Amino acid sequence: RAKRAGGNRVEPFRPAFRSFGTDRLQLETDLRRALERKELSLAYQPIVRLADAEIAGFEALMRWDHPKRGNIPPSEFIPIAEMSDLIIPLGMYALERATNDLMAWQRQSGDLPIFVSVNLSSAQLLSNDLYNDVRTLLTRTQCDARNIKLELTESMVMENPEQARLVLSKLKEIGLGLALDDFGTGYSSLAYLTRFPFDTIKLDKALVIGSDEKRSILLRSVISMARDLGMQVVAEGIESDEDAEELAAMGCDFGQSFLFGPPIGSDSVQKLLKERFPLTRRA
Ligand code: C2E
Ligand code: MG
Ligand code: MG
Ligand code: MG
Repeated sequence: RAKRAGGNRVEPFRPAFRSFGTDRLQLETDLRRALERKELSLAYQPIVRLADAEIAGFEALMRWDHPKRGNIPPSEFIPIAEMSDLIIPLGMYALERATNDLMAWQRQSGDLPIFVSVNLSSAQLLSNDLYNDVRTLLTRTQCDARNIKLELTESMVMENPEQARLVLSKLKEIGLGLALDDFGTGYSSLAYLTRFPFDTIKLDKALVIGSDEKRSILLRSVISMARDLGMQVVAEGIESDEDAEELAAMGCDFGQSFLFGPPIGSDSVQKLLKERFPLTRRA
């Protein structure tokens, strides 16, 4: 193959490629142990209402503090988990952890109306257990389903649209929020906005960042279409106050980006909520 691609030139042996293979296997082994050894945690990034700059909820983002390599970003370890069966327990860990943390924040804050949003993988969506696992979790924690949102991407839904529609409508029926993540990357097929019971779309930063006029036109129409469909809109990657104002004027409901705050640990969320909502009645 190397020969065909380069004419008569033979590609040099690339040790990096081989080490990627063993590296992946090593990481997979490490990841398998990471769950038991409590090396995995969740960081929470505020999702802020653009109208009044108030915190509406948080997205749970998984973190792995590897004993030898330090922090490994989810863009590296989630795909590894997805290539194996690991994503199922990992995904369930995220759901449980996030639900328990949310309950703790609410106990402490006198039932502040905030939600937590958790990313799903397609193996979870396509497994037959997700719906029952979620129900069991909600019952056990006494968590209100309306305070939990699940984030899915178009490609996940595309993998098995029938199964996805079935599971998603059951989850929707018991009150969970469903967000279409990374909108504006991939195909961004408009059919998915109506064929699946999403209540929220998250505009990817690729769509949000920039300043040319075409971007504004595109954003304005996507946002107004989403709103006409009764959906809420979260813009990722907002970089400036001007962009936040522009998006708010277009009818975008929420923003989530470093401008509003980075992902932080659960304890820092507690502190942040105490500062932001000092007058809320306390339990
Ligand atoms: P995502 O769901 O689209 O999450 C948003 C990502 O954008 C996060 O990266 C967040 O830290 C980053 N981000 C937030 N604000 C800004 C900003 O202003 N500028 C820029 N450039 N980036 C910003 P993170 O935490 O590295 O996560 C990457 C992806 O990994 C997530 O993208 C999600 O697809 C996946 N992921 C993370 N945690 C989980 C999980 O528990 N389960 C699954 N299945 N996937 C996860
Ligand atoms: Mg997400
Ligand atoms: Mg996203
Ligand atoms: Mg994204």
